Amino acid sequence: MNHAQLKQQAIAAIDSLRAEFIQVSTTLHGNPELAFKEFKSAALLCDTMEKHGLKIQRGIAELETAFRGETRGAHSSPTIAILAEYDALPDIGHACGHNLIGTAAIAAGIALQRVVKDLPGRVIVMGTPAEEGGGGKLILLERGAFKDVDAAMMFHPASRTMTTRGSLASTRLKIEFIGKASHAAAAPEDGINALEAVILTFNNVNALRLHLKSDARVHGIITNGGSAANIIPEYAAATFSVRAASQKYARQVLDRVVACAQAAATATGAELKFSTKPGYSEIIPNPTMARVFAENLRALGIEVNEPRANERMGSTDMGNVSQTIPAIHPYLAITPNGIAGHTVAFRDAAISPAGMQGMLDAAKAMAMTAIDLLREPALLQNAKAELKKTRNEN
Ligand SMILES: [Zn+2]
Ligand SMILES: [Zn+2]
Repeated sequence: MNHAQLKQQAIAAIDSLRAEFIQVSTTLHGNPELAFKEFKSAALLCDTMEKHGLKIQRGIAELETAFRGETRGAHSSPTIAILAEYDALPDIGHACGHNLIGTAAIAAGIALQRVVKDLPGRVIVMGTPAEEGGGGKLILLERGAFKDVDAAMMFHPASRTMTTRGSLASTRLKIEFIGKASHAAAAPEDGINALEAVILTFNNVNALRLHLKSDARVHGIITNGGSAANIIPEYAAATFSVRAASQKYARQVLDRVVACAQAAATATGAELKFSTKPGYSEIIPNPTMARVFAENLRALGIEVNEPRANERMGSTDMGNVSQTIPAIHPYLAITPNGIAGHTVAFRDAAISPAGMQGMLDAAKAMAMTAIDLLREPALLQNAKAELKKTRNEN
């Protein structure tokens, strides 16, 4: 079968299973599960792939809700990974549309399974838990799950269609202040106020803000602010997310936020304890893969936008994958311009007809891109060379 026929067959497979994929995605949306607890979601995605003939490994790299579906052509390499996400957000549910991401990934894998005998390599659908907090892909990377992968891709729903939008590097900071409890009216002079230290930290960060580069983002919540108004709080805690366009600058900003907390400790006399978590790296969108993906989207009749200078960006653990192997994290529009993720409006969009259409289009474009990458060795070579070059420059 020739190249164009293979792509047509993959597209036809997705069209013929349209109702089933919409059902899977709707079920995920209706049962939002949080980081590392995506038991039902992972099972549904695995069951669906298994039913359609992929070889399934449930639970990989000692992560119960990570998985791997595999379909193999004439050789076991090269290997293209299509990544699934399926975790939801606390309280608000599937407001990031990961029900669409997970389903698109298995849809692409199932479509490729139908044409795999005409492909020289291997396709893996990798289930990556806890994107919204926990960084499943970091753990999978650390534990070698990507060792045999030559290129990786996924899709994310958005309000614009873009193949080269970047992401912010992020780090997490947890601060705790230990003060001394005392009667807040009868003996405040005997107390050390841990809550005031947290409040001062926020104020210090706000004083710092003007002096940060425009790509920096520092945002936090108070997770413990004391137990009663008539007790001087002896314990208070907060968590911050610190982000920037590069991991290097994010780390510099993180150091300054820690200094804000240290200053608050000095001012109040409370003891500061803090811990940082290695966060998500910025994405390096692979130029060759992004170009091929964009061509496939256009072939499906979908318009591709260029990222704007002030394009909205979040952070994702796909950034870390893209620093290690050639990868893309393209966006497909499922809502009118301007609706951001992590909102109720976006959650509604993630189950709308436009959401389902974006998911199916993304599945087709990923399957087509995998066919291109497996059948044209020069593409993978270029993609690898590009990543090497970028890494040498940084
Ligand atoms: Zn999100
Ligand atoms: Zn997301």
